[in-house]
Amino acid sequence: MSGAILILSGPSGAGKSTIIENASEQIGDFYFSISTTTRKPRVGEVDGVDYYFTDKESFERDIKAGEFLEYAKVHDNYYGTSLKPVREALEEGKLVIFDIDVQGHRLAREKLGDIITSAFITPPTLSELEKRLKSRCTDSPDIVAKRLINAKKEIEEINSYDFVIINDDLQKATEEFVTIARAARLKMSESDRSKFVDEWKAK
Ligand code: ADP
Ligand code: 5GP
Repeated sequence: MSGAILILSGPSGAGKSTIIENASEQIGDFYFSISTTTRKPRVGEVDGVDYYFTDKESFERDIKAGEFLEYAKVHDNYYGTSLKPVREALEEGKLVIFDIDVQGHRLAREKLGDIITSAFITPPTLSELEKRLKSRCTDSPDIVAKRLINAKKEIEEINSYDFVIINDDLQKATEEFVTIARAARLKMSESDRSKFVDEWKAK
């Protein structure tokens, strides 16, 4: 059996990292796809845990070498998902979780649509998002402003996701995420379905 993919998108500050961390013990064995980015690390972020931090030149080299399953420019920085570890985790039958933006979601769907489940996560309002970005204290006012402008564009993509999680009450949002992750794990690829049908007919 091959694995499955769960994509989580939503504005920066929506609570994606918090929810994945809260839910991690309840969703069993999964592989979190650590993205590569040219963004500078925030206070407390660790290279190889939160992201692989790199520079623009080596990111562009990796693009040319075909290392990325998808990549996008978000808030003036590159972000990308490396193909190799994702492929390995899928071959091991794991659920692979991506925290990527709406552009990455679209690209990943084009390539691996049959094994993808997706959820868009958002705070209940734009002003609540602003409050959270400010209270997180990780970004300067001009970066927060940029993220809010981008958030208004990102939310327009909400219809391309399978599920929407409104992260008002954190515990409720985490429970919804756990339910979606369990369902995502059950998604069967087209090739597994064909194999099953062949075997089903032969017995
Ligand atoms: P993202 O990974 O989507 O950028 P974070 O997980 O870093 O977002 O969350 C942004 C901020 O909002 C953090 O300070 C986090 O503690 C806070 N937060 C997350 N969920 C909630 C919630 N339901 N209510 C209030 N604050 C929240
Ligand atoms: P942040 O800088 O807040 O960590 O992330 C900014 C945005 O980049 C978020 O919307 C996040 O989901 C997105 N992002 C993180 N990693 C990737 C990736 O590998 N690919 C794409 N397309 N987006 C990513």
